[in-house]
Amino acid sequence: MAVKAPAVGIDLGTTYSCVGVFQHGKVEIIANDQGNRVTPSYVAFTDTERLIGDAAKNQVAMNPNNTIFDAKRLIGRKFDDLTVQADMKHWPFEVISDGGKPKIRVEYKGEKKSFFPEEVSSMVLSKMKETAEAYLGKTVTDAVVTVPAYFNDSQRQATKDAGAIAGLNVLRIINEPTAAAIAYGLDKKGTSERNVLIFDLGGGTFDVSILTIDEGSLFEVRATAGDTHLGGEDFDNRLVNHFAEEFKRKYKKDLRSNPRALRRLRSAAERAKRTLSSSTEATIEIDALFEGVDFYTKISRARFEELCGDLFRSTLQPVEKALNDAKMDKNQIHDIVLVGGSTRIPKVQNSLQQFFCGKTLNLSINPDEAVAYGAAIQAAILKMFCWLMLHPSRWVLKRPGGVMTKLIERNSRIPCKQTKTFTTYADNQPAVTIQVFEGERAMTKDNNLLGTFNLTGIPPAPRGVPKVDVTFDLDANGISNVTAKEMSTGNAKNIVIKNDKGRLSQAEIDRMVREAEQYADEDEKHRQRIAARNQLESYVFNIKQSTEDAGDKIPKSDKDRVIEKCTETIKWLDNNTTAEKEEYEYKLEELTKLCQPIMTRLHQQANGDTAGPHTSCGRQFGSGGGSTYGGPTIEEVD
Ligand code: AMP
Repeated sequence: MAVKAPAVGIDLGTTYSCVGVFQHGKVEIIANDQGNRVTPSYVAFTDTERLIGDAAKNQVAMNPNNTIFDAKRLIGRKFDDLTVQADMKHWPFEVISDGGKPKIRVEYKGEKKSFFPEEVSSMVLSKMKETAEAYLGKTVTDAVVTVPAYFNDSQRQATKDAGAIAGLNVLRIINEPTAAAIAYGLDKKGTSERNVLIFDLGGGTFDVSILTIDEGSLFEVRATAGDTHLGGEDFDNRLVNHFAEEFKRKYKKDLRSNPRALRRLRSAAERAKRTLSSSTEATIEIDALFEGVDFYTKISRARFEELCGDLFRSTLQPVEKALNDAKMDKNQIHDIVLVGGSTRIPKVQNSLQQFFCGKTLNLSINPDEAVAYGAAIQAAILKMFCWLMLHPSRWVLKRPGGVMTKLIERNSRIPCKQTKTFTTYADNQPAVTIQVFEGERAMTKDNNLLGTFNLTGIPPAPRGVPKVDVTFDLDANGISNVTAKEMSTGNAKNIVIKNDKGRLSQAEIDRMVREAEQYADEDEKHRQRIAARNQLESYVFNIKQSTEDAGDKIPKSDKDRVIEKCTETIKWLDNNTTAEKEEYEYKLEELTKLCQPIMTRLHQQANGDTAGPHTSCGRQFGSGGGSTYGGPTIEEVD
């Protein structure tokens, strides 16, 4: 794949991810190899392979400790972050601290392995990259990746690092609500200022953002609110409890003690929930759900709404909070945009619409895809326009003596560069320590330390004489590069602030890129192994069946030899589920050597004798791709 593809837009979600591309004048959301337009943000490790996306999610119940999800809840955070500590209690996988950074520990091919959240997210991103490459037939390198509006600098940088590990050049990190607003073209609606409320209710998270779009391209985040643990899974839980109670009432049995029964009930409940978004009734039919008892029942939309009523109502509180924080009245909101699969629920839509006095909601774009849709547009036009971006948080600098100096105001336009001059606090002071914090709070301890450095070697001088120029260079992703120059001798010295808040070093990223390539190689080897196995399996069963179908058209001795060899091969396959590719190929060759001449004779006989019914051997041999092993193909026998 030598040709470079257009830049793609990737919504890297907590539970699902989605990729889109803008081409031929429109956005196309790209389906993965399973035909799904969204891909679970799941990565699993087994004894034999690494799985990403649907394949990982599908096996989660069998392999809970080694199936990673929710990496987005960890990315760019410290291990002792309170939210990390709280989330850890609910995860079946192990999270450890590596120098204060969280790492997820799993077992892969019989060995303990641990991964930074950036690495896990990079695996999801590489799956999205592959999905786009398979569709476009070209190498994808450039991408716009979205993050929640409330992500801080560290979380944004870590997401960018995840992209780098996946071999992506992340053109820009943009806010999810901004992407959704772009998807609806709200940035193109005239020149006057617009206030947009984005209501994003997904599988496990709920985010409300208010943006102001000015001059058509300036997106200012006015407020964010939400609930990091509210979403479709909570509605599923309510349904599961309801059905489990009903089962108990009817059959006097509590299925909640049985994980398998619960799992089956949960998927049926989730399906019913989806049905209830378009029908007023849904049916549940699960055979032998628990202790051999079948469970057939129905649920109405009204009952579902009653079961989840408090949860649905609770979505309005963050809306009110965001309006308060933005100091806006609801009638100042020009547009409301729905994002996230759970906004398909009619009751959710109705109560939001009622809250906004019947205002029309923007919901024409698939809510699971709106963010990737906007990211794809952004990726396409990025090179044409220089978008004005705003820095998400306020930065302050702590100087010697504890004086706080404001550096970057929240929502300053970026990219930007600023230089401030500082001096010493005491006579003959040989060094200064400069600390940069992110946050709105007055006290240092309440803010997030971004970086610290010592500038040493300052020549002896009275206080206030030496000059230290500190330059802040913020790029369009809100990522900083801080340098300090000691000016008193006239010899400039540059010091780049060491990022000590847990960012990966370039060496670490390089190592992870190498490992990612190695994992990709292993995945490819595994795919080839499975393909070789499938080819052998397909060939042996086809040959066996065709030989049996051929009746006396094959001499008995030949027939016995073929059947015996096939039986032996099938037995070998059963006992060697994890053999190497070469072993499968060798077995196929062995089988082909024996069977091919017999099958060729049968085929010739069939061609020479047009009078009789020869359909008995009219089966497809080989594994569908034409027989490289010389066996008959469908063209030859039909
Ligand atoms: P997201 O994370 O935005 O992809 O949202 C996924 C969540 O949306 C899951 O909890 C799904 O069960 C839910 N969802 C998807 N489609 C529907 C639907 N038609 N009705 C209700 N919930 C849905």
